[in-house]
Amino acid sequence: MWSFIESKINNQEDLSETELKWLLERESASELDHLYALANQANLRLNGHVVTFVHNMNVNYTNICEYRCTFCEFKKTADSSEAYILTFNDVKERIDRADGKLSEITYQGGLSDSVDFWQTLDLLREIKSAYPDLHAHAFSPEEIHFYARKNNLSYRDTIAKCIEAGMDSMCGTAAEVLDDAVRKKICWEKVSTDQWIDIVRTGHELGLRSTATILFGHLETPDNVMNHLEEIRTVQRKTQGITEFIPLLFMPDKTKLGRMVSLEMDRITYAFKLMAAARLYFMNDIRNIQVSWVKMGWENALLALARGANDMGGTLYYENITREAGGTNGEYTPKAKFIYELTRIGKKPFERDTIYSHQKELTLSANRLGP
Ligand code: SF4
Repeated sequence: MWSFIESKINNQEDLSETELKWLLERESASELDHLYALANQANLRLNGHVVTFVHNMNVNYTNICEYRCTFCEFKKTADSSEAYILTFNDVKERIDRADGKLSEITYQGGLSDSVDFWQTLDLLREIKSAYPDLHAHAFSPEEIHFYARKNNLSYRDTIAKCIEAGMDSMCGTAAEVLDDAVRKKICWEKVSTDQWIDIVRTGHELGLRSTATILFGHLETPDNVMNHLEEIRTVQRKTQGITEFIPLLFMPDKTKLGRMVSLEMDRITYAFKLMAAARLYFMNDIRNIQVSWVKMGWENALLALARGANDMGGTLYYENITREAGGTNGEYTPKAKFIYELTRIGKKPFERDTIYSHQKELTLSANRLGP
């Protein structure tokens, strides 16, 4: 099988789902090294030594949520002393305090009757009016579904209202694993696989670009991952609207799901394997594979850049979701550290915008040396 796959990679031919699954089932160190080398080769062909990141801030406009996803510790009930709904002044104060000009906010929140869709749009509108250059990477398919249902709107009309309020692209979150067998176990209140795809496709049809994520490292099998990646590749072939694929390693420490799953596997090795297999499977369809330093830690994230990844996500002011689930890799990393670390390993750091339409090379001389 290796020589067959290798020849497909060399000839830039698409891998089949069966071949993807076979790659996901590799276990031995030598086979994994083989997989990483092929993923690195495919990435270098597409992106050279350029590694991108975005200067961004999370704006989780509320943490109030009535859903019970088993992997989430971010949500709070409306009567919790920790519950909040951000005001414009809260957001403004954060944006104004950021180091240098941000290019993106990631605007997402919990799902609750106590949080009104129209107020959420008004807040976004106010932010966009005060900071017109700030790209609003906003709303997951789950939020679109929730607000559509609450307000008797179609997905198309809901997304159109979000765009009118300032949404520039759609978050590809809430995908978790796009296989209903897994969704029923870990996030049974969320949209089905078909609904997630429908919403993302509708967003693309309305001119938005989106990311696509997977939350892995819990109950899923290679079959589930294969199904997920197949769904993503299929929608991408129809719309070309997906800018990057973001594998998100499940953070088990404080979560209910973490207490339910066996954590004996080497999670970082599994993450490298999934990332490398995704790079090869998406080779002709999705150019950018992101590694999350928040989930993986800096050293592992840098290693992932030799295993198929080419994007380091964002500087990420106000990262809340991972930290509240027990993540310990911090909530913000200054640009200077990206530049220093990427240069140190022989990569070329480029700051990008959200949808990869602009990229600017950054050098050590223009920035403070060292992290
Ligand atoms: S993952 Fe999102 S929808 Fe699920 S409980 Fe957390 S905040 Fe709510």
